Amino acid sequence: MSNLTSLTISELQSGFRKGDFTPADSVRALEARIQEVDAEVGAYLARDFESALAAAETADVSLPLGGVPVGIKDVINVLGEQCSCGSKILAGYKAPYDATAIKKLREAGAIPFGRLNMDEFAMGSSTENSAYQITRNPWDTTRIPGGSSGGSAAAVAAREAFGTLGSDTGGSIRQPASLCGVIGLKPSYGRVSRYGLVAFASSLDQIGPFARSTRDCAAILNAIAGKDPHDSTSLDLPAEDFTSRMTGDLKGVRLGIPKEYFVDGMDARVRAKVEDAIKTCEGLGAELVEVSLPHTEYAIGVYYIIATAEASANLARFDGVRYGHRAKNPTDLLDHYKRTREEGFGSEVKRRIILGTYVLSSGYYDAYYLRAQKVRTLIRRDFTGAFEKVDALVCPTSPDLAFKIGERVNDPLRMYLADIFTIAANLAGICGISVPCGLVEEQGRQLPVGLQFLGKPLDESRLLGIADAYEQAGAKEVLATIP
Ligand code: GLN
Repeated sequence: MSNLTSLTISELQSGFRKGDFTPADSVRALEARIQEVDAEVGAYLARDFESALAAAETADVSLPLGGVPVGIKDVINVLGEQCSCGSKILAGYKAPYDATAIKKLREAGAIPFGRLNMDEFAMGSSTENSAYQITRNPWDTTRIPGGSSGGSAAAVAAREAFGTLGSDTGGSIRQPASLCGVIGLKPSYGRVSRYGLVAFASSLDQIGPFARSTRDCAAILNAIAGKDPHDSTSLDLPAEDFTSRMTGDLKGVRLGIPKEYFVDGMDARVRAKVEDAIKTCEGLGAELVEVSLPHTEYAIGVYYIIATAEASANLARFDGVRYGHRAKNPTDLLDHYKRTREEGFGSEVKRRIILGTYVLSSGYYDAYYLRAQKVRTLIRRDFTGAFEKVDALVCPTSPDLAFKIGERVNDPLRMYLADIFTIAANLAGICGISVPCGLVEEQGRQLPVGLQFLGKPLDESRLLGIADAYEQAGAKEVLATIP
């Protein structure tokens, strides 16, 4: 049954409904595929086939995602399952409740399945910051899958999952989707409840889907979107079918090309693929308009002030009293805190906590944090201005192809630059998606390139319509050769 794992979610569902195979068959097929490849890929930190099979046996395939297993990043709480956030400090921690996104997946009939590897507390762009294991890019296992949701992207690319959930604070869904040749959607801020998503930077975090089709991403978003009384930043909006604008063409769509997103220093082959993809969009009927986002150059700097500030506050709760790791035989309370955190957190997390504490400290708050908030407003206004002229923006997702494991671990600044095209969307709260747009040969291997579309806040239906039209015309080569 392992060929079942090549199906998209919508193909899987039509098979369920016709009675060609059952949800239990799909779980068994995933099991076989995971046994076959995950020792090498390393996408899953944990998986429980038995409980997935039990859920599959009673699944109602008439529900919107009835019987569909969905893999979960290890930062989203699923009742009774581990939630380590890729960190030693939460080793052995079991979630006491379902995140709202999980509750909604279950209501739609889906089966939350497995725990996917990630950079510790979602801080990173390569999944190398996981305290547990390396995840390898299925296209070339000497390379990183991107991050921080590297397990979620690699599992979909390696056909070890039909769809997965990740989280995106500065690019952590779109960048790994791009490097793994799959589709990854970051919804607008407020679209999906963050309740039960372990917080990294609360004003930037969003949960979103990965899949091998845009339509599947829309179907998962249909299930998880919506107002939640447990998250005051979730928005109360009329229910929407996010597949409703999939017309297959781009007639009447004005697509903006932000000139600041075609920088010197990006991989020339990536640039060429993205330029070809933009021509394809034009062929589908889009009108291309050059736009400017003049504050782009400040996005990374602003992000590393705001995200670290919020992280330093959010991570204060890991004190060894309430959750996870606890230092042995402390001499006093301060020693308990210090050693618990020293032992439990990895070096990138410590770096962020120190940076964040610094930018919030008295005397520096105005110079760094407050100023960063002001520049964040300017970045948001850049997008508001651009969206007065165009319906969506089109640009690269990542400036580079997947890089080699180990290549950037000692160069945090270079690692931070991996998100140069994705971070501003989080600062502005808009939605974004990465769709594969071609393959580049590198050292005898094919590596995928991602095309990013950015949409107005809460304009996911249109964004997904645009991405779907592009996918039909331009992503087939990549999706058909998925390893
Ligand atoms: N790579 C970025 C960081 O390290 C973004 C991470 C994310 O989106 N969670 O913070």
